[in-house]
Amino acid sequence: MHVFSNPVGAGSLWFDNLSTADGTPVAYDPQARAFVPMPPFCVNRDVIGCNWIASEQGAFCRSCAMTALAPDMSTHNAIHNWALTEAAKRWVLDNLGRWHWFRPEDPGVRPVFHMLGEGPTPVAMGHADGVVTISVAEADEVLRTTRREALEEPYRTMIGHMRHEISHMLWWRLSLRADFLDAFRSVFGDERADYVAALQRHYSAGPPIDWKQNHLTTYASSHPHEDWAETAAHLLHLTDIADSVVSAGFSSSGLPRPDWDPYSEPNAERLISVAVSVIMGINHVNRSMGLPDIYPFVLSDAAHRKLVFVHDWLRRGAQGR
Ligand SMILES: [Zn+2]
Ligand SMILES: [Zn+2]
Repeated sequence: MHVFSNPVGAGSLWFDNLSTADGTPVAYDPQARAFVPMPPFCVNRDVIGCNWIASEQGAFCRSCAMTALAPDMSTHNAIHNWALTEAAKRWVLDNLGRWHWFRPEDPGVRPVFHMLGEGPTPVAMGHADGVVTISVAEADEVLRTTRREALEEPYRTMIGHMRHEISHMLWWRLSLRADFLDAFRSVFGDERADYVAALQRHYSAGPPIDWKQNHLTTYASSHPHEDWAETAAHLLHLTDIADSVVSAGFSSSGLPRPDWDPYSEPNAERLISVAVSVIMGINHVNRSMGLPDIYPFVLSDAAHRKLVFVHDWLRRGAQGR
């Protein structure tokens, strides 16, 4: 993610800021990719701390307008969890906007979000025909950690959920093109394989013994749809890590210049190699604070090839090029 200029003074602003250091209210303009000091602000600003601008007073911003269902306010910590979930959504939408997805110049369908609270029964996250369902309850650290342990996942965050579920929607968008499906099946396999049976097998028998050779995660080995979603989410992780490091001003002989834009980088190999080189350093820094690795995954050759494929399609997909 970029580090942004303060529109009314010195210093920088972070993507989630609602005001400058001296307290001047600001909002993020996702079209200009810059902060502005003037309303109209998103009508959800006072509800969930949304810091995006709206087209007019009393309107939703571009991101909040995609949320068709907000959580039932009687569910536990609904507003707090919803706010964190929408923040993750804005982040990922802005990432994807760098490749023109879901911006005005994108002629295709936008995702519709169902942001659901949880009662006693867990909400199944997923995507169907353009509708992305997210459990906002997972914004709760304790609940998310419990599920992360139960599912033996090394990484589970709201940004990760957003990237994974929106990636299913991106697959659906791409599948409407005439030239995508054959290319997809040649790399990921045939997604027409029985999905329900595949997931039942995954949860009862576990991943194949050699999953690491072909997939980024155990879940990716369950079905070609999940392999795509996991791989696309990982491409978004890696691209954002590279963007954040360069934007934060870190430099070394192994890193590109500060004006390098990873979203304009045509060479996926170069993008991945920049990300992996900084990940090794940041993982090491995190260990100095007793924190987990930021990216606890190893990229096999096969996973690498899949990342290159996803990069190619995400870069050219939104405008049909
Ligand atoms: Zn908003
Ligand atoms: Zn999935």
